[in-house]
Amino acid sequence: MIDEVFYTKLIAELSNTDTTLVAVSKTKPVEDILALYNLGQRDFGENYVQELVEKQAQLPADIRWHFIGHLQSNKVKYIAPFVSLIHGVDSLKLLQEINKQGVKHNRIIDCLLQIYIAQEETKFGLDEEELAFIHKQLDSFTHARIIGYMGMASFTEDQQKIRKEFQYLKSISEKYRLPSMVNGLSSPALSMGMSADYKIAIEESSNMIRIGSLLFGSRS
Ligand SMILES: *Cc1c(COP(=O)(O)O)cnc(C)c1O
Repeated sequence: MIDEVFYTKLIAELSNTDTTLVAVSKTKPVEDILALYNLGQRDFGENYVQELVEKQAQLPADIRWHFIGHLQSNKVKYIAPFVSLIHGVDSLKLLQEINKQGVKHNRIIDCLLQIYIAQEETKFGLDEEELAFIHKQLDSFTHARIIGYMGMASFTEDQQKIRKEFQYLKSISEKYRLPSMVNGLSSPALSMGMSADYKIAIEESSNMIRIGSLLFGSRS
């Protein structure tokens, strides 16, 4: 069951911003995705490769699929033909594989670098040193295009801490400019904010929020 009332309110809230809503449909049935699709939603996020591949085959072709989970290099090939944006690029090896699959499928695959922003938890992501190392080489990837950054804040009640982590991601995006942002005309994608913290994320200049449970109900 989707929460149509919440969706309608959220879309209205976002309508005068440049924020993209990624509806996170992991573990949810295709019927729920279709219900949201019929309300106009086109961007959906999934965490598991096999689940994404199965759903993509059953659902309308104009859905933009975001891969938001931790992606293993040996699985890139399954989503490379159709994926719209890969949020969780956290190693050079993964980026090289995405580029290789992009060449193979003759398409440029858009990606975000996932940055480690949560201070207290072990989550995936690059630290600044690793980012600096990868950032220097971005020009060499012809078929994997980094268009922005993604981060996950700590799972905590401490709003101030969450805010600081989002501010850190924003500062990273300003410090490490991307070659894909031609002449600074466009700004990088900043994928931050989930059900629990999307309001803070938007205040801290997120332009891509990833919302699951508020739209689709809690996951078991
Ligand atoms: C599951 C997930 C979300 C959505 O989480 P909710 O709290 O249900 O909104 C967002 N981003 C990532 C990376 C996720 O794995």
